[in-house]
Amino acid sequence: MPNHTVLIIGAGLAGLSAGIHAQRNGYQAHILEHHSQPGGLAAWWHRGGYLIDGGIHFLMGHRPDSPLYPLYREVGALPGEGTVDMSTYGRFIHEPSDRVVDVTGDLARLARDLKTLAPEDARIVDELMAGVRALRGPAMWSIGFGDPPELAKPLDSLKTLWAMRRAGRYFIGKFNRPVAHYTPAVRNPLLRAFLETLFMPEVPVWFVFMLLALLADGQLALLPSGCKGFILPMERRFRELGGEISYRATVEKILVENGRAVGVRLADGTEHRADAVISAADSRATLYDMLDGRFVDSTWAERYRTWKTVNPVLMVSFGVAREFPAEPSSQIWWLQAPLAVADRPVHAISVRVFNYGPAFAPPGKTVMQVMLDTDWDYWATLRQDYSRYAAEKERIAAEVLSRLEARYPGIGGLVEMTDVATPYTTWRYTRNWRGSIMGWLPSPAAMMTPVRRTLPGLRNFYMAGQWVMPGGGVPTCILSGRQAVQLLCKDSGRRFVGGEG
Ligand SMILES: Cc1cc2nc3c(=O)[nH]c(=O)nc-3n(C[C@H](O)[C@H](O)[C@H](O)COP(=O)(O)OP(=O)(O)OC[C@H]3O[C@@H](n4cnc5c(N)ncnc54)[C@H](O)[C@@H]3O)c2cc1C
Repeated sequence: MPNHTVLIIGAGLAGLSAGIHAQRNGYQAHILEHHSQPGGLAAWWHRGGYLIDGGIHFLMGHRPDSPLYPLYREVGALPGEGTVDMSTYGRFIHEPSDRVVDVTGDLARLARDLKTLAPEDARIVDELMAGVRALRGPAMWSIGFGDPPELAKPLDSLKTLWAMRRAGRYFIGKFNRPVAHYTPAVRNPLLRAFLETLFMPEVPVWFVFMLLALLADGQLALLPSGCKGFILPMERRFRELGGEISYRATVEKILVENGRAVGVRLADGTEHRADAVISAADSRATLYDMLDGRFVDSTWAERYRTWKTVNPVLMVSFGVAREFPAEPSSQIWWLQAPLAVADRPVHAISVRVFNYGPAFAPPGKTVMQVMLDTDWDYWATLRQDYSRYAAEKERIAAEVLSRLEARYPGIGGLVEMTDVATPYTTWRYTRNWRGSIMGWLPSPAAMMTPVRRTLPGLRNFYMAGQWVMPGGGVPTCILSGRQAVQLLCKDSGRRFVGGEG
């Protein structure tokens, strides 16, 4: 008997995408979301008249010639007001030497600037630029954007190999190892710091090539009203298609009868039943709590034993009563003296200046945000003593502001709003394991491993989201929601229909 109703756990990017595709394919979808708004990690909140953007730093593949573009269009996600093209990924500022590099998509200029920074590493810079050039072009961006592993056809891997033929050597050997394993060959400490802070030191070198290739191809963009302007159109599309969504609805258990998922029970005891269930929430909670660990096979158990997760972050946002029109909106500062956060030194911080759209602040004002990597255990423990937790947040905000003051004299006196979000905040509003902001660490091994979306022994159940797409990310999570519905259609004998509809 074909499925007709589907319950979706979570209204993040993956859950909303699954809901939209389910409705488009003739299912009646009901999304149950723990928080009071959609978006999950693609988060935003209002404070003191300012809009704080707490997620998505840049969108990949936003232009019509990108193979990712149709994915966004299908779910109505590309904001009506458009996107802001990024000609630079950001500015790298090395405080101890006072040297600056703009990470531009003009690769000749970038190579020149990096060689000026690190003349003794000219050969390495040439090698990096060759890698970036090899990974340019739409064929490369579509790798991994096909069907879920359950529907993979033998020809798919041949197609991938064909797409990668120009660049094959950059996906093996030293380029398929973490950046941190590559940088010891770099002699100049500034270039080393540059490479390690560009994304994360744990990602494969080819990931950095891919990022810079996307930049050079003009396929990175900022969202002029942040996550809010990206997510609300998706939620609207889901509702317009007839989908139902409930907020403050935390799923506690997935109901299983005769080896089939038949519904869910919420934390308040309410039960909902359906023909299928898609979990687009944290996989650990899904597998070990909602399903009581009954369907954890050796593959999943091994992942939880050996794979690492992306660190959680601390985010300090300030509402400042002045404009910064000429400042690069994205910056990486390698600090003169490290900050002490969670009992460890923090050498690099990301600084975002929200000067690319009027939505973030009242006229004449700006949100400035500092983000840094931190530790889950420290913050989760500290949160048990609320007054110490609050005092530590206040201390760090003051310390961060003093660093901003050194570069922007007078800024301290213009701050009207201060907001500090910790890993505990991330967990509280999204329930992601250890507050991870992208799920599994995109290590070379994890990125090359397809994660199945179904569980052995459990029918009518599918998974979506960043925990089945190592490294997370906007297009991949949207894709995973689509793929969950592809599987659902296959199991209920329906032909999956994509497109904008
Ligand atoms: C600061 C930051 C910057 C980022 N920058 C980028 C970027 O520039 N580019 C990029 O591509 N990606 C970026 N990412 C990553 C990307 O945003 C995430 O990988 C993606 O949003 C994850 O979406 P998801 O739907 O898989 O999961 P989530 O967003 O975690 O959504 C899961 C949803 O499920 C809900 N939920 C959990 N448990 C339950 C339950 N028991 N019952 C009901 N609901 C539940 C949660 O509340 C949440 O809404 C960034 C993330 C962060 C935090």
